[in-house]
Amino acid sequence: YSGKKPAQSVTDGMIGMKVGDFQSIPVVVNENVTVYDAICQMFLDDVGTLFVVDQSSFLSGVLSRKDLLRTSLGNSELDKIPVHVIMTRMPNITYCKKQDSLIQVAKRMIDQQIDSLPVISAKEEGLEVVGRITKTNITRAFLSLAEDHEL
Ligand code: ADP
Repeated sequence: YSGKKPAQSVTDGMIGMKVGDFQSIPVVVNENVTVYDAICQMFLDDVGTLFVVDQSSFLSGVLSRKDLLRTSLGNSELDKIPVHVIMTRMPNITYCKKQDSLIQVAKRMIDQQIDSLPVISAKEEGLEVVGRITKTNITRAFLSLAEDHEL
């Protein structure tokens, strides 16, 4: 006996998948760091998206690879531009919570053509960044379904 669930229960498995079970550690930078330092941070932490926080450590924006590339083109003063000038900012940030369904999050990623979402915990004064969901996490979840079931 393989210990795997029957193929018919794949649907139940999919519906039950939650953000909290598949999320990664978020990489955050302060909104006053320079574009130059943000690029270094992206390489150091090996991520494709940085989340930006304000002085109170609440979510204020998102920086993607292309946001940084676009700014780098023809710009020699990357060490003088703070990231808050170029980031995608609140309230235009798509985020999710730990208990959200992974399927819903995958749909939002596809509909809005984004690679990742911050996982947040809502406080009275703002949104605390507690995790990160990327297309890699979704792929990992997809694979875990295949591994958990007799296919
Ligand atoms: P890239 O720009 O490297 O292809 P994305 O597809 O993730 O990476 O980002 C596309 C654009 O959407 C960027 O301008 C980025 O700032 C923005 N973006 C990325 N993630 C989010 C998000 N969760 N909510 C809102 N905007 C986002």
